[in-house]
Formats: sequence, C-alpha cells, structure tokens
Amino acid sequence: MNLDALLDHPAFAGAPPRDLDAYARRAYAQLAVVNEAVGGAGPLLDDPRTMSAVLDWAAVVDPSLFAAAAIHYAVVLTSIKELGRPEESLESAIASLDRLDAVGAILITEIGHGNNHISLQTQAVYEPETRTFRLHTPTPGARKLMASIALPGVAKIGTVYADLVVDGRSCGTFAFVVPLRDAAGLRPGVLVEPLEGSVPVALDYSVTSFDGVRVPYDHWLRDTASITSDGRFEDPLGNKDRRLVRSLALSAWASLAGAVGLASASRAAAAIALRYAATRSTMGRLSPDRPVLDYRTQQHALYGALASAHAVTALVDKAIEAFLAKPWEVPPDETAITFSPWVAAHRTHALAKAAATELCAEITAECRRRTGAQGVLSINRIIAYEGLAQGYNSAGGDNLLILLDAGRSMAETLQPCAVPDTVTGDLADPDVRLGLLRVQEATLHAELAASVRQAGDAGLSPFDAWNPHLPKAAELARVHQRRMVAEAFRALVAERQDEALAAAERLYGLRDLHRGRAWLLERGVLSPAEALSVADLADKAVDDVAAHAQALLDGLGLPERRLGAWFLSA
Ligand SMILES: Cc1cc2nc3c(=O)[nH]c(=O)nc-3n(C[C@H](O)[C@H](O)[C@H](O)COP(=O)(O)OP(=O)(O)OC[C@H]3O[C@@H](n4cnc5c(N)ncnc54)[C@H](O)[C@@H]3O)c2cc1C
Repeated sequence: MNLDALLDHPAFAGAPPRDLDAYARRAYAQLAVVNEAVGGAGPLLDDPRTMSAVLDWAAVVDPSLFAAAAIHYAVVLTSIKELGRPEESLESAIASLDRLDAVGAILITEIGHGNNHISLQTQAVYEPETRTFRLHTPTPGARKLMASIALPGVAKIGTVYADLVVDGRSCGTFAFVVPLRDAAGLRPGVLVEPLEGSVPVALDYSVTSFDGVRVPYDHWLRDTASITSDGRFEDPLGNKDRRLVRSLALSAWASLAGAVGLASASRAAAAIALRYAATRSTMGRLSPDRPVLDYRTQQHALYGALASAHAVTALVDKAIEAFLAKPWEVPPDETAITFSPWVAAHRTHALAKAAATELCAEITAECRRRTGAQGVLSINRIIAYEGLAQGYNSAGGDNLLILLDAGRSMAETLQPCAVPDTVTGDLADPDVRLGLLRVQEATLHAELAASVRQAGDAGLSPFDAWNPHLPKAAELARVHQRRMVAEAFRALVAERQDEALAAAERLYGLRDLHRGRAWLLERGVLSPAEALSVADLADKAVDDVAAHAQALLDGLGLPERRLGAWFLSA
C-alpha cells in the first residue's frame, strides 16, 4: 500500500492551520482519506501489521492525525471487537465507525481524582424494564477529561468507561459504546465543554458529562458477563479488579499503538535534524562555510539521536512481533493494580510505551535544540513530534504510575533477573553492558523487596510501608526498561548482522551507560578508570555512526516527501 500517494490529496495540502478547531478538522478529514484508501477499518483490525504501518505513516505526517487514528482503530474498534457481543444496534455503530461516518473516541479519565482509572465514578445503571442502561455523571468530579469530541460537525462514537450498577449494586468497570454527537450536534443527555487553549497534540479535547443517556443492551462491552432476563448480573471472572483489567484489555493495543507513533516521531525528528545539519552552512571563525554537522557537538547530539531512534525502533518492533506471536506473553494480572490498571493489563507494552515516550522526548528535544529557529517552527514538525512525547507522558496511562506499578509488582511477585557470573570486559561490548544492566536491576530488585518485606514485618500500613520506597520502585522499573531496550537492540543486531546497526547500538548503549554510570561507580561495579573510559568510548562510537550515517538514515525508511519539513523545500 503506497500511503505516500495520499499526500497528493487536498486534505494534506498546505501548512497546518493555526486555528485549533481547523487543525482538528483537518486531522479528521485526513483520517477519512486514509480510511477510504485502506478499505475501512476491517483490514487494519484483521492485520495488526497493516494497522501498525498506517499508524507509523500517520505519526510522521502529523501527530494529530496519528492520535485520531490510534484512538479510532487501535483503541475504540479494537476494544469493541475484543469485548463486544454485537446485535443489531451495535452492528450499526460498528458499521458507522468502519466507514468513518463517525470517529471513535475514548472516555475513561475523570477530572476529580488522580488514579481515577481504578475507581471510576461515572455510572451505567441497568434498567430491567427496558433492558437498557442509563449513563450518568453523579458528581462534577466524575466528568470525563480529555476525550476528543468537542468539534462541531464531526460525528463521534465513544467507548465510555463506567461502573455498572445492577439492582443498586456496583458490578465493576465496563465500557459502553455511546453515540456522542452527529453532524447535527450533541446527542440528548451528552454535555460537552470544549477545552480551550493549546495542547501538545492538537485535537478537540473536552470535559464531558452524561445526564441519563440511554444505552442499548448490546452497546455494553460485556465480554463474558451478562444480565439474566430476571435481572441478575453474572460475571465468570468473579472479581472486580479482574474485570477492570479485562475491560481495559484494549490498553495492550493502545500502549503498542502509542509506542509505534513515538518511535516514528523519533525517527522523523532525527531525519529532519540531520538533513538540516548536513546542509546548514556555518561561518564560525574556526573554519568558515562548513556544515554544522562537521562540528563535534552537533555530531554527538545528532548521531546520538539517530542511534537512539534506531534503539526505540528496535524496542517497538520487538514488542509488535512478540504481541503477534503471543498476545498475552504475561497473562493479565490484577494484583499489579496499585496506582493504575495499565501494567496489570499488559506489563511489557505499558513499559514499552513509557520507554518510547522517554526516548522520543529526549530525541525530539535534542533535535529541536540543534535545529535552531527552524526547530521551533511547526512547519518543520519537530515540535509536533516533541508534543507527541509530551502528550504520551499522560495519554494511554501516566508513565510514572506505570513505573510505580511495574516496580512494585516486580518486587512483590517476581524474582530478580539472572546476572552473569562476571561483568568485566570491554565496555564497548554490548553483552558486557547488558550484564551491567542486569546487575543493577537485580540489585535494586533485591534491595527493594527486602525493604518492603521489613516494613511489612514491622506491621506498617501499606502506605507507610511503600511510600518511602516509591522512588526506588520507579528506579527499578527504569533500569528494567533500559534493559528491555538494550535486549531488543541486541536481538536486532544479532539477527541482521549489520555493521551500521551495530555502530548505532554501540553509540546508544555507551551513551546510556554514560548517563547511568554513577550507580555502578558508587557500588563498585565499575572502577573509576572504567567509568572514566566510557566518555572516550562513546566519542569513538560517534565516529563509527558517522561512517555509517547514510545507511542508518536510509534505514529510517523516511522519504523526504513524507517528512515534509518546510526548510527542505524552502
Ligand atoms: C494529549 C492527551 C490526550 C489524552 N486523551 C485522552 C482520551 O482520549 N481519553 C481519556 O479518557 N483520557 C485521555 N487523556 C488523559 C490521560 O489518560 C490522563 O491524563 C492520565 O491517565 C493521567 O491522569 P491525570 O491527568 O488525572 O493525572 P493526575 O492523576 O492528576 O497525576 C498528576 C501527577 O501526579 C502523579 N500521581 C498521580 N497519582 C499518584 C500517586 N498515587 N502516587 C504518586 N504519584 C501520583 C502522576 O504521575 C502525575 O505526575 C489524555 C491525556 C493527554 C495528555
């Protein structure tokens, strides 16, 4: 499928509008063009690789288009497909979404509390007389925050997460498919306050509440649960937390989709900044009329960004392949819910999304800084890519909460990772660096587990036992993420046997080690001389990447036309 041909369509012409509504409207118009070209949602839902290719392309063209596409396909339609038991009414809603007569939106987050995803206040009350539900916002704090449904004239269907109430009893969190607005306006009982002001990923965000919106029975994404004809709620999962995690099964795909977009944005930012630096002549007195990329500072920054862009790509590609081979490599585990449901739903993908966000944030910020004024012009896109990373710090699940849940559940339920017998050797060797990461992770893991065990033995409350150790839990999860990235890169280079990629792996790994060397030094894992040598090794690795720069740029797979940065054609 040649998606680049779509760039000739008028919906993609010209610079992005300044007006936020116009920007969002353009993103939805572009999504309609994409949907038509791919033959509706069906082919994307049937083939995750196609879905991923479309999301990858969209993220490079415009992060707002990507966000709209990710929510529509990877979040809303995926969850309906996974959890819905459609009859006539839901079939009709699915057909609308498939044709993009209506765009999908997701409404989980509530404005009133942090960690609201594990304790939603919005209610869907079952009415036995009509065998329907009434959707209701009981308090101002239960209003839904950030759903992209504020734009008039664009029909929207939402998956709304609510506490199901049957016969006065709370039965757990489920999603309900709710038409929110059509071309004529909002549906009865749906109240939408547009959120004014700029946001990192421009869409039509809102605060939304419900006043007795009637929802048909089959719009309940009930999965295996049911309500009998005499009004009894039955759920074979038998546990509200398990149901919450199951209702959020979509988050496995949502996290993966986010990671795909973040990797694409990272690659695009690196490609744009390197093209700029290669052609930007400088007049510094050391050597007038030299491209800025000849300077060592620029090389460190941008070849570093290029190497990191390949690292995040390796991580995300591995996550996709693993998911295709075995969607639930680690079964959902409701005991991992402390702050949020994301790790419980899919640990690897939640961590991959959080790691991709961090890498994308670093890469795009560095590329922006190294591209001068052109770097902050939205027509050159780098700040839009950086905005995607800012958005995904929270969107798809708060990254810190993901780290806290991951660190806590690792310490409570898993054994520390295996460590090699010896970790001495050439620090330019990726296996030696991986060994160091394993030592750090296993040590932090064992220390954290021991600390909280002691606190538990001392009879402290869960808050007092855990709260002092939360920074350590986050640190453990961060080191685990660094190992995930390093292992993914290792596997890729081993498979491809490609010198250019090996150079990128070396530079990425040595920069990562350089940033993390303090802990290894403090614990005596590295000697001062070894720690001191890392900067020189990284400097040498910059030369290796420079020698393969063209191959590594080509490997990003980004034609100039798709990048579309203004300065490339100015
Ligand atoms: C661009 C964008 C798009 C979004 N799109 C959607 C959407 O379409 N639909 C939707 O439903 N939601 C959407 N969201 C909302 C997103 O899911 C939430 O922002 C996210 O889950 C974090 O929740 P919050 O904003 O309430 O943060 P808060 O809970 O207010 O967190 C604030 C800070 O406190 C920290 N914190 C919170 N609780 C704890 C704790 N117990 N211990 C320690 N630290 C804590 C957090 O890490 C964070 O740093 C979007 C967000 C963004 C930014």
